[in-house]
Amino acid sequence: MTLIAAACRMGDGVIPRSLDDMSFQAEAVVNLEAIAANVANLARRTSAELMPAVKADGYGHGLIPAARACLAGGATRLGVATLPEAMALRADGVTVPILAWLAAPGLDLEPAIEADVSLGASSVAQLREFVAVRASRPAKVHLEVDTGMGRGGVVEDEWGRLCEFAAKAQADGLIELVGVWSHMACADEPEHPANAAQKSAFERFLDAVSAAGLDPAYRHLANSAALLTDRSTHYDVVRPGIAVYGYSPIVGQDYGLRPAMSVRARLTQVKRLPAEHGISYGHTYVTDRPTTVAVVPLGYADGIPRSTSNKAEVLINGERHPIVGRVCMDQVVVKLGKAKAHPGDVAEFFGDGEITADDWAIWHDTISYEILTSIGARVRRRYVGNP
Ligand SMILES: *Cc1c(COP(=O)(O)O)cnc(C)c1O
Repeated sequence: MTLIAAACRMGDGVIPRSLDDMSFQAEAVVNLEAIAANVANLARRTSAELMPAVKADGYGHGLIPAARACLAGGATRLGVATLPEAMALRADGVTVPILAWLAAPGLDLEPAIEADVSLGASSVAQLREFVAVRASRPAKVHLEVDTGMGRGGVVEDEWGRLCEFAAKAQADGLIELVGVWSHMACADEPEHPANAAQKSAFERFLDAVSAAGLDPAYRHLANSAALLTDRSTHYDVVRPGIAVYGYSPIVGQDYGLRPAMSVRARLTQVKRLPAEHGISYGHTYVTDRPTTVAVVPLGYADGIPRSTSNKAEVLINGERHPIVGRVCMDQVVVKLGKAKAHPGDVAEFFGDGEITADDWAIWHDTISYEILTSIGARVRRRYVGNP
């Protein structure tokens, strides 16, 4: 992808800029080479096909660029949560198999079926809906079963009925059964007993599938954590998400993945405050001596959690500096101490170096996933790397 083609995600018509243009205020730099390299890294760990999850705007990195980088890295299919996500990929000319695994009852499924989007079926009722669509071709379906996640999918009591219904619908030419799948609840804790339980439940389901005379080509179970820790979960397809974007699902384990997103903003102001001066709403921070501070234009509306007030740090000219006082909607205040910094200098909130989304996850008591997917639409995405 050329830089010119790199999407500027802001809705207000801001024009994509060249790489070295410093006229940005706040941006998320997305390294597409890192995404491709992460996918290639994952591909070396399995003989299964890769179906990266590019849902939620590619975990905040941008749906289309992330998808293209995944394909460049060796992915052969793509997974999304919703139909609009799948349709956006098709509209951009992505032709590989796409699975959309979440659809509420009553949606118009015909455009997705016509666009050759495969649908996840999480109940017999939903399968019935797929059968009822009058499209020019049968719906491609991946049956989802609940092997212990307790979220989506058909529960074990109904597997017999599900397989029977699917076999009949397939025989009648009303669906094309492409895959069967389930999702793991505790794969990021490799020793958790739920993992073995889910694997044997999935095997029992596969037996029921065979017993019904079905032979779907694609069986899939593994998310990033299962892909990285347990080959016996790989089957025919794996569905990595977070690892694609460079984060380990098991924090602290190094799998040679590289964070693809770097969030940064340029200081709008640098100034000296006297001693005993309150900072930001509520004056939750008060200077104890004359202090140099910088104002940085990213706030909770951009996905910088307010809970990290007086906790988080950012990098300015290679050094860590604390956010002091409350995180505001559009800005934060950073204490510079003795460091020299000037308006226009760059503050990196996180990237692939000293401070990562895992640090923010600790400060915000969450996981890297939430930090990445929370970076707001106002933060311009800039794409680098030519995968
Ligand atoms: C989000 C998601 C994934 C990817 O999970 P990671 O933990 O990010 O690897 C895989 N499968 C399904 C069904 C998902 O919803």
